[in-house]
Amino acid sequence: MDSEIIRRERCPKCKGEAFKNNFLLTPGHHARVFVECAACGAFVARYILHAYVDPNFDLTASLNRLRHMTNDESPRAVVDEMAIHQRRAREQFTDMVTRLDKAVPSPEMDRPLIEIIRSVGTLEDE
Ligand SMILES: [Zn+2]
Repeated sequence: MDSEIIRRERCPKCKGEAFKNNFLLTPGHHARVFVECAACGAFVARYILHAYVDPNFDLTASLNRLRHMTNDESPRAVVDEMAIHQRRAREQFTDMVTRLDKAVPSPEMDRPLIEIIRSVGTLEDE
């Protein structure tokens, strides 16, 4: 697969596009998000997070708290790196939403996401 896949997920049961992201963090594991349909309550998907960005996290106000989260990097360096990730995530989000709004329906958009992910070999079985 050479081209990017971009699409808005839908509930497999009711085709709804509103979801609840139920977050689970278990010590020793990556965080997991269990996606629940907001309309019918169906279990839609589970995502395992390898990187997390909160685009609304107030980095400046949290600098003092971050001093307790790091040992070998200065809090300023941590904040600066988080700011870079926030900025990139916001840019990617804006770009994705713009592209989704312009997306032309295609058969690929109805293909089950698990088939697409398997085709690029990035599935995990945790
Ligand atoms: Zn649903």
